[in-house]
Amino acid sequence: MLVRHQAPEQQMLREAGIRPTTPRMTILRAILDGGHRHLTPESFHQELADAGHGLSLATVYNTLNQFAESDLLRRVGCGDRHFFCTNTREHHHFYDARTGRIEDIPDPQPLIHNLPPPPDGMMIEAVEVIVRLRRMPHN
Ligand SMILES: [Zn+2]
Repeated sequence: MLVRHQAPEQQMLREAGIRPTTPRMTILRAILDGGHRHLTPESFHQELADAGHGLSLATVYNTLNQFAESDLLRRVGCGDRHFFCTNTREHHHFYDARTGRIEDIPDPQPLIHNLPPPPDGMMIEAVEVIVRLRRMPHN
């Protein structure tokens, strides 16, 4: 019997319907090795460069978006910024626009009531809650 050994990231990409090129495998490996977090293309590009991977920002940006389209990451929009969350479970976020810090809201997740019916021919794909934070003023 022939046993083929595939890197786990290679298998994950195939299962997501993405052709496992070397840059995609490098990026997915770095995502998996980095643990749970919220990435920006710019900071992640720098992290990859620091680790000796010479990938262009455009490649990193396009790959993160492609991974989000294939549900390997979640894209989270916070006003004019967006992040790529490595937690693909359904969840919501705390966000502090002053510091740029974003984090998962721990379970139990907030419940959304009274969602409107979607317009004709449309369905609701997702509802994402961003709970905006600011530091309490000093007394
Ligand atoms: Zn998250």
